[in-house]
Amino acid sequence: ANFVVGLTGGIGSGKTTVANLFAELGIDLVDADVVSREVVAKGTKGLAEIAQHFGGDILLENGELNRTALRDRIFNNPTEREWLNNLLHPIIRSEMLTQLQNSTSDYAILVVPLLFENGLDRLVNCTLVVDISPELQIQRTTLRDAVNAEQVQNIIASQASRDEKLSKADDVIDNHGSISALRSKVSALHNKYIKLAAQT
Ligand code: ATP
Repeated sequence: ANFVVGLTGGIGSGKTTVANLFAELGIDLVDADVVSREVVAKGTKGLAEIAQHFGGDILLENGELNRTALRDRIFNNPTEREWLNNLLHPIIRSEMLTQLQNSTSDYAILVVPLLFENGLDRLVNCTLVVDISPELQIQRTTLRDAVNAEQVQNIIASQASRDEKLSKADDVIDNHGSISALRSKVSALHNKYIKLAAQT
């Protein structure tokens, strides 16, 4: 696709839900979370470099990455964390670009939780922020995951603020309402993006 929409929003805002509604309309998705797992899957160069750097203990019996072990190794260790980021960020970025280039839909959507925080908004033609209040972020996330309000609050605090995301967004999709309300908002944006893509 020659036109890419960057989709973002805070924890529990509804990015996945919105992305799936675009997918129902035939739009290809590239998901940063999925790509970041793919680039360290068994047999990848990324995983081989991690194992060489951290040692074989970082792998599970079956040869896959031991995520818990890796998390422990970079927790409270900025040097190791930076080493890992320097390894993975360029690989993730180039894999996302490859998948976007391979997309054949009228436009494509790049779903990235930390789109602005990680400067990935530079890779897209326009940005779409899914917006809900922090209260609703806490409500929906604690309903979905085994986490408490305080843990969600801490994650919210570690992400770009609601105001910052809203001020950087080209489009905002309000997700305080029902899924069916969301579906019609997605449909309107889809028509807009089809037109923009045709002009690009
Ligand atoms: P994260 O970044 O934490 O992975 P996300 O932004 O991808 O979250 P979703 O997983 O899409 O968010 O939505 C969070 C939760 O809220 C899910 O359980 C989803 O089903 C629910 N949800 C999303 N939109 C609505 C809505 N309009 N009404 C009710 N529930 C919703």
